[in-house]
Amino acid sequence: MSVFNAKDFDRHEQVVFCHDPATGLKAIIAIHNRNLGPALGGCRMYPYADDEEALRDVLRLSRGMTYKSALAGLPLGGGKSVIIGDPFKHKSDSLMRAMGRFIESLGGRYIGAEDSGTGVEDLKQMAKVTSHVAGIRERRTSAGPRDGDPSPSTAYGTFVGIRAVVQHALGGNSLDDVKVAIQGMGHVGIHLAEMLHNAGAKLWVSDPVEARLEDARKRFDATPVALDEIYDQEVDVFSPCAMGASINDATIPRLKARIVAGSANNQLDEERHAVELHRRGMLYAPDYVINAGGIIDVYFEIQGDDEMAEMQKLDEIGATLSEIFVEAEERGETTVEVADRIAERRFLAPGVKERGNVAAMA
Ligand code: NAD
Repeated sequence: MSVFNAKDFDRHEQVVFCHDPATGLKAIIAIHNRNLGPALGGCRMYPYADDEEALRDVLRLSRGMTYKSALAGLPLGGGKSVIIGDPFKHKSDSLMRAMGRFIESLGGRYIGAEDSGTGVEDLKQMAKVTSHVAGIRERRTSAGPRDGDPSPSTAYGTFVGIRAVVQHALGGNSLDDVKVAIQGMGHVGIHLAEMLHNAGAKLWVSDPVEARLEDARKRFDATPVALDEIYDQEVDVFSPCAMGASINDATIPRLKARIVAGSANNQLDEERHAVELHRRGMLYAPDYVINAGGIIDVYFEIQGDDEMAEMQKLDEIGATLSEIFVEAEERGETTVEVADRIAERRFLAPGVKERGNVAAMA
């Protein structure tokens, strides 16, 4: 397995392979870029088929975090970590603490948070041995106390993004009767379903966990769909909210939706799929722009709660997407090309060396 020559290496600053024989922990921490601040990104636990798959995932996710924070206007860099293992079978408190010790050894260059397969309790275990984790603090909001799980904010940002993309592609301000197929009824998907339902949208949903489908059917009048059939629905919006790479050679020709907009990271199997969507006249909301709600939420946890400022930042996701859509149209480019260029202008700017004051607090 090559690291420096890996297809997704893309100028990574540091990649750390972690092994703790006592707990069986095997993990990779990737730091892509810290020009704008410390590398903040979730810790994913997943039963990867092999090390190469895990490396590819962490490199792509970590790079995505650099672009995500830059476009969200946060003083943060990009990083991510993955634990190789099945969260339902291999998770233990001692394994999480072992992961925490590896994060601690990086001295704050990387700050971990929740991701697929890890939750608040896991991060709390890590926090016993490192101060460089976030997404764990009990938060006070005007709606009452809440835990550190950023998923509701990610869902809200995705909702705001879907509103912007619908407005651009279909016209009108309303989501009334707009048809949305959501792939994945997990932490983000279920909150997104609730917001879309309350806004009048009609929903089609898929998830391997039957109980989650049933929940969505009862609460939001959603139509459950078999896993593979979610791509074939006659809808306006296809919203990937499960794992990555669901937009690929096999699925694109099946999509009836004119819009692809969801929370999942790395939705496109390969970059060229952005071109394919564009060629077919489908509007794609770049994943790292529309799903920035989680990083925004974690940032405000670290910086100190400011509910109004956080809502404003989350609402900016819609405005940023609208700007990207207009520029893409004017230049005849894909939305990914435009988003990447704006992000790179920010994090590659010569002379940007200052770390945000997040570093001091983490
Ligand atoms: P989650 O693990 O809670 O939910 C994922 C859901 O997808 C689960 O219910 C799972 O059963 C389902 N699923 C798995 N395979 C599926 C398939 N083939 N078809 C349909 N459903 C399938 O994860 P989450 O926190 O809801 O995150 C969802 C996506 O959004 C992930 O890609 C994640 O990286 C991304 N994301 C999440 C956040 C956050 O704050 N949680 C932030 C940014 C991005």
